[in-house]
Amino acid sequence: MLPKYSFLVPIYNEEETIYEMYRRISLVMNQMDGSVELCLINDGSRDRSLKMMRELHQKDPRVVYLSLARNFGHQIAVTAGLNFARGQIVVILDADLQDPPELIPEMVELWQQGYQIVYAQRTKRLQEGLFKRFTAYAFYRLLKNLADVDIPTDTGDFCLLDRKVVDVLNAMPERNRYIRGLRSWVGFNQTAIRFERDPRFAGDVKYTFRKSFALAINGLVSFSKVPLRLSTYLGLLAALVSLFMCLLVLYWRLFTPHSPLTGITIVLMIVFFLGAVQLVSIGILGEYIGRIYEEVKQRPLYTLSEVAGFDEQYQETQKQARVAE
Ligand code: UDP
Ligand code: MG
Repeated sequence: MLPKYSFLVPIYNEEETIYEMYRRISLVMNQMDGSVELCLINDGSRDRSLKMMRELHQKDPRVVYLSLARNFGHQIAVTAGLNFARGQIVVILDADLQDPPELIPEMVELWQQGYQIVYAQRTKRLQEGLFKRFTAYAFYRLLKNLADVDIPTDTGDFCLLDRKVVDVLNAMPERNRYIRGLRSWVGFNQTAIRFERDPRFAGDVKYTFRKSFALAINGLVSFSKVPLRLSTYLGLLAALVSLFMCLLVLYWRLFTPHSPLTGITIVLMIVFFLGAVQLVSIGILGEYIGRIYEEVKQRPLYTLSEVAGFDEQYQETQKQARVAE
């Protein structure tokens, strides 16, 4: 029998939080009105996380897990979980208990009222650094303004998805997966619940600055063509400035006896300015071309080294579906 609910938790070096996460989530699992599978996705952890996942699976058959063959990143780990989740209702949450599992029953109530997507919106981030809060604040607003779809501000991946939505997400072929954006893109009835984001239960942040930055660029580039237009605007601006300079130089040459143009200062300034404009434009182009390259290669999104708890036949169909993609 397939479970009614799947809870997906991506895990990357979370040995300090796993047991506590399981304890808190299992309390919620016991309260649910149907069967639940807790699907843990090991994203190439290098600590004892996988061992602990195996142990939990032995102890509690509701715990199933996937293990990716290396660290593919949070978004891909969640994607793998979505591919394998069997529930009618799927909930995605972080391992570090920053997304309180106790909110799930409330999310389910909204699902019963007819919403297929319930996402959690953070009203406050408790004890996250000033830098992170500021950059996150600025990024979400920039994205909202630039993106083609309406991506709500301050929402992470903590959400509830109906099976219909999960099927649509699974059918999306793109390799650069910005799940929050895809989730907005699909449509359906969506609603938010608001919550205060707790501090991380234990351990260090696994989203390093580099990973967060890559995620941000990915979000912008995947959901907006405005940056491409930016190079056009910059180009136009440079053209205007150079036209003005030409006229100015011509004027000095023709009408002033002692031209103020001396040395190569002004030439250097123009060269630097144009060089900068060109490099920025090429960089922006490169972001998009890089993405096209990723898509064209058609590599699988991830490789699995271990799968446990799903029955054989189900595993086979999931694997075949991915190969056929
Ligand atoms: N995570 C992952 N792969 C990574 C980085 C993070 O699966 O490469 C998981 C991590 O274990 C956690 C979640 O993604 O469950 C969120 O990570 P973290 O709490 O470090 O980031 P935050 O969103 O709080 O900044
Ligand atoms: Mg966290």
